[in-house]
Amino acid sequence: MAVRKTKHEMPEQPAKERVKNFNEVPYGYSKETAIEEAKRCLQCKNKPCIEGCPVEIDIPDFIKQIAAGDFDKAVEVLKNKTSLPAVCGRVCPYESQCEGECTLLKIGEPVAIGRLERFLADYEREKGMIIPKLPKATGKKVAVVGAGPAGLTCAGDLAKMGHGVTVFEALHAPGGVLMYGIPEFRLPKDIVNAEVDYIKKLGVEIKYDIVVGKTITVDELFEDYDAVFIGTGAGLPRWLRIPGENLDGVYSANEFLTRVNMMKAYRFPEYDTPVKIGKIVATFGAGNVAMDCARTSLRLGAEKSYIIYRRSDVEMPARNEEIEHAKEEGVIFKLLTNPTKFIGDENGFLTEVECIKMKLGEPDDSGRRRPIPIEGSEEKIKIDTALVAIGQSPNPLIPQTVKDLEIERWGNIKTDKDGKTSIPGLFAGGDIATGAATVILAMGAGKRAARSIDTYLKKK
Ligand SMILES: Cc1cc2nc3c(=O)[nH]c(=O)nc-3n(C[C@H](O)[C@H](O)[C@H](O)COP(=O)(O)OP(=O)(O)OC[C@H]3O[C@@H](n4cnc5c(N)ncnc54)[C@H](O)[C@@H]3O)c2cc1C
Ligand code: SF4
Repeated sequence: MAVRKTKHEMPEQPAKERVKNFNEVPYGYSKETAIEEAKRCLQCKNKPCIEGCPVEIDIPDFIKQIAAGDFDKAVEVLKNKTSLPAVCGRVCPYESQCEGECTLLKIGEPVAIGRLERFLADYEREKGMIIPKLPKATGKKVAVVGAGPAGLTCAGDLAKMGHGVTVFEALHAPGGVLMYGIPEFRLPKDIVNAEVDYIKKLGVEIKYDIVVGKTITVDELFEDYDAVFIGTGAGLPRWLRIPGENLDGVYSANEFLTRVNMMKAYRFPEYDTPVKIGKIVATFGAGNVAMDCARTSLRLGAEKSYIIYRRSDVEMPARNEEIEHAKEEGVIFKLLTNPTKFIGDENGFLTEVECIKMKLGEPDDSGRRRPIPIEGSEEKIKIDTALVAIGQSPNPLIPQTVKDLEIERWGNIKTDKDGKTSIPGLFAGGDIATGAATVILAMGAGKRAARSIDTYLKKK
């Protein structure tokens, strides 16, 4: 029988409806559609898709179990390698990872691996998560700093190896960017909480409101723990560094999204912590963070929401799905356009942004074509809110406070591929080591570090 060339569609809220609410956009596959999609898999002998998965999930095996209708067995295969499948099934850039390696790309679209992962994770959550049998306690204790995907993965894997794990988190809730950055309409918070609960049920303890480097130092952690893992992420906003950036109405993407997600500004007046949003909003940047800002501002009532980006659509770093969703919802893309200054009124409130048109030159260090300003092409655009989403740098507190810790040029902690730092017993991974990257890369780093910590503890 000929293989279907396209993925099975995933039903979703119509754009006109969803732009008025914060409910999740796609609904997920039904059991029948999941089985049909799984039957597209060729069960390739060389399994190229596994190569594309940073946490090495046995993709063909879990798909085979779905195709056979054995969802419980499929969950078992999936959970062997990941503790956060519902998160990854929603936000992983699978088109450039596992799906990017799928053999079916030679004739059409890859198997919808991400959608199948999401289906299974949702199936398991609704049914009740199964906690695996844990080995005998080793008596060793590990402190994990940061409850983002890197820290949570490292903690879960160490617990499954029998080690005692305590996570120290600066905020009052777990999840890192999954909780404070990615909006509810892309990643519902009860789903993040359910996956964190699973990790807690493995025996991991999470302590909140502890800023390591201030409340307690890494040296002090070593007094009570045999090893320490740092997964503190890249939460330091980068700025455009143009005149007027201190006007009222200019936010960093981080501040804006944290206030909306974590402080529940989107549920005002139920939560009395609103965020001021204007009528015309411009988001600068074109990554996932920028798409989240632009789409969130429409949901908060903005009449116009621009994405302003200095390169072209080819270079936009956001996932394709996010760009498509943003366009469907009415976000206006102004590409090859770069801001030069913000302009305000006499009271210091933002009223306009001046931009200049750009053209693309030769590729720069990043491999992308360098944007070059076109002289005399300045234009002013009326806006009353600006959201700066041009990237984040590693959180500086731990790099600044741990003596003898080797740091790289951009402030990230230097590690080898297994997460070892320059200090014995101190490991790191995720955005704090790589700079801002992706959920699955952070999870992969947490996983490798857990293995490396286990080896270290066995030798200790
Ligand atoms: C808005 C937004 C959208 C994104 N969308 C996607 C997407 O669609 N797909 C994708 O793959 N990736 C996406 N990313 C990137 C992805 O979320 C990150 O790469 C990933 O979360 C990094 O994980 P981490 O564990 O290294 O760090 P984080 O998720 O940043 O977690 C770090 C944790 O450490 C805590 N912490 C920091 N300092 C301290 C301290 N001193 N003491 C104690 N705790 C501390 C923080 O509070 C936080 O909870 C997005 C990022 C943002 C900001
Ligand atoms: S590469 Fe594609 S077709 Fe081959 S095993 Fe993986 S998911 Fe199936």
